[in-house]
Amino acid sequence: QSPVSENRLLELRLMPYGDGQLLLMARDITRIHQLESMRKDFVANVSHELKTPLTVLQGYLEIMQSMEDEQSPNQKPLKLMQQQATRMQSMVEQLLALSRIEAGANIDLSKTVNMSHMISQLQQEAKALAMDNYHLVFECEPHLNVHGDEMQLLSACSNLVSNAIRYTSPGGTVTIRWHRVATGARFSVTDTGVGIPPQHINRLTERFYRVDNARSSQTGGSGLGLAIVKHALSHHHSELKVSSEIGKGSTFSFVIPMHLLEHI
Ligand code: ADP
Repeated sequence: QSPVSENRLLELRLMPYGDGQLLLMARDITRIHQLESMRKDFVANVSHELKTPLTVLQGYLEIMQSMEDEQSPNQKPLKLMQQQATRMQSMVEQLLALSRIEAGANIDLSKTVNMSHMISQLQQEAKALAMDNYHLVFECEPHLNVHGDEMQLLSACSNLVSNAIRYTSPGGTVTIRWHRVATGARFSVTDTGVGIPPQHINRLTERFYRVDNARSSQTGGSGLGLAIVKHALSHHHSELKVSSEIGKGSTFSFVIPMHLLEHI
C-alpha cells in the first residue's frame, strides 16, 4: 500500500505477464481503508462506553446479593446475572485490547523483552488457571531475548496458553517451548485437547470465530483471543501456525525472526 496523494491510497501489485514482462496493477483502496478505520473507531468507542455501565451494574448486583439471605430464592438468579455481567465485562476488555493492538499505536520494537522473565509470568498464570488439574511442561531456552513490545507478546502467549488449558480436559498435558530455530526463535504451545477440524483452521484468527459455539461458550471465551494474537504477532513480523488432530490435540506456534532477537 502506498499513499499517492494527501487523501488517496493505492494498492500496487506486480505480476508476471509472459515473456519476462511484468504487469503493474493499481487499485484505489481509499474507500475500503476509510470504512475499515471507521469500523475500528466504532468498536473502540462502543467498548469504551460500555465499561462504565457494566461496572455500575456489577456493583449493584453484588450489593443486592449480599443483602439477600443465603437461602433466598433470589440468590440463584442474582448469581446468574452476575456471571453474565462478568462475562460481558471480559468481552468488552478483550474488544478494547483488540482495538489497541489493531491500531498498533505506540509500538516500539527497540525495547528488549526479557523472555525468561515473561515466561515465568506466563507460568504463574498457567498454574492459576490449571489449578493442579493439568500437567504443565515448560521447556525454555535461557538468554533468548526479543526486541519487541512486552505487553503484546505476553498477551499473545497468554491467550495461546489459556486456550490450550480451556480446550483440554483435566488430566491432559500442556507443553510450552521457547527455543532457537534456523530462522529465529520459536514459541509453541502443544496440548492434548479436543483438536480442531481442518476446515476451521484458516479462520481461527477472525474476530468472533469459534469452531463449535456450544462447546466454546462453555469454556467462557469471547472468540477474540486469536484475533488479538494475530495482530500482536504481525507487529513482530511473525505469523501464527496451527497444526491439530481431532481428539489428540493441537500445537499453536510462531517464530520471532532473527532480526528481532537480541544478539549477545
Ligand atoms: P475463544 O474465546 O472462543 O477461545 P479464540 O479466538 O481464542 O476464542 O479461539 C477461537 C476458537 O478456536 C475457539 O472458540 C476454539 O473453538 C478454537 N481453539 C482455540 N484454541 C484451541 C485449542 N488449543 N484447542 C482446540 N480449539 C481451540
